[in-house]
Amino acid sequence: MHLHPFELHRPTTVEETVRLARGLPGGFDWLAGGTDLLPNYKMHLNVRPHLIALGGVDELRGRSGGRVGAMTRLGDLERDSEFGASYPGLAEAIGEVATPLVRESATIGGNLLVETRCFFFNQSLPWRESLGYCLKADGDRCHVVPQKVKCYATFSGDVAPALAVLDARVEVAGPDGRRSVPLLALYDAAGDGIRRTHLGPGELLVAIDLPDSARGMPANYQKLRVRPAFDFPELGLAAAGRIVDGRVESLALAAGGLETYPRRFDELTGPLLGERLSEERIRALAESVRLAVRPVHNTFLAPDYRRRMVAVFVRRAVARLGSVPGGTAG
Ligand SMILES: Cc1cc2nc3c(=O)[nH]c(=O)nc-3n(C[C@H](O)[C@H](O)[C@H](O)COP(=O)(O)OP(=O)(O)OC[C@H]3O[C@@H](n4cnc5c(N)ncnc54)[C@H](O)[C@@H]3O)c2cc1C
Ligand code: SF4
Repeated sequence: MHLHPFELHRPTTVEETVRLARGLPGGFDWLAGGTDLLPNYKMHLNVRPHLIALGGVDELRGRSGGRVGAMTRLGDLERDSEFGASYPGLAEAIGEVATPLVRESATIGGNLLVETRCFFFNQSLPWRESLGYCLKADGDRCHVVPQKVKCYATFSGDVAPALAVLDARVEVAGPDGRRSVPLLALYDAAGDGIRRTHLGPGELLVAIDLPDSARGMPANYQKLRVRPAFDFPELGLAAAGRIVDGRVESLALAAGGLETYPRRFDELTGPLLGERLSEERIRALAESVRLAVRPVHNTFLAPDYRRRMVAVFVRRAVARLGSVPGGTAG
């Protein structure tokens, strides 16, 4: 596996970065830590002739209160004890990404935009060539759900669900200036699965903003994967909320690793607000999440198993948020 030749650009401000992106013939990719993009380039997956490295743009780095620059490395956030104490579920998710070595290069912005995964896509060029390629790179059909329109590759980032349950927003910069959007609005959930986000041409992530309400919010993250030391999520479930004396003051659940985009389950948790929780109600919630999700068979673990595990994770997540009278730990 070798890298195609590309031209590397190193801007130093957001404005220069956006300007540069306008005039590059043949297309470009933003390069953050490169831990996802460069392995994909080595497999000749959708390579572009230009890479714009974001590492020299100071504004994108570091944390100030609830604002985290898109280029902040996961390893730095992991060592930030004040961050970990303020956002325990988020810190848990960050600590579950890849390996300690990868987290030294991997950034939080890159994690939110990590390429979706499928075992017909994350393969070498000869492997894909022998099968005839697929919609997501070089081909015109899907090997998972036979049709020629939509890709069902799985969103496999750990951090997005943990941010989503905290109502995080992202700041985006582009040719038309800057805008702030709720994190989940970034993802093009109704699209063809190939265009993954609502980022316009030349737009990049500048920062993630956590609201004041997220600080100190009880939260947790659980991950299902084949090799615990290493692998992408086959399911990642984040939960946040306050359950006081068995009554639900707030509750949010979000999952990744199951479908093409990370998603929240407000339509299922909403009816529980203000209600007293019982073991029966938690089981009913877990079952409704299981029925709502639609994983397909394009990662290692079978879709049915991942659906059953999401129900298990929901029960455990809620039990960890607060004690439920008469309930067990799931
Ligand atoms: C062995 C291994 C195991 C892994 N396991 C996991 C895992 O368990 N969980 C997990 O979540 N990930 C995993 N990853 C994937 C990856 O390491 C992480 O998701 C990482 O956080 C990606 O960040 P990065 O900075 O390296 O992104 P890059 O690889 O640089 O970029 C990823 C994508 O985001 C785009 N991008 C990056 N920054 C911006 C920005 N500011 N604005 C717009 N677009 C941007 C890039 O153009 C690219 O498309 C693994 C990778 C490896 C090699
Ligand atoms: S889901 Fe289908 S189109 Fe998407 S990567 Fe897999 S085989 Fe390709």
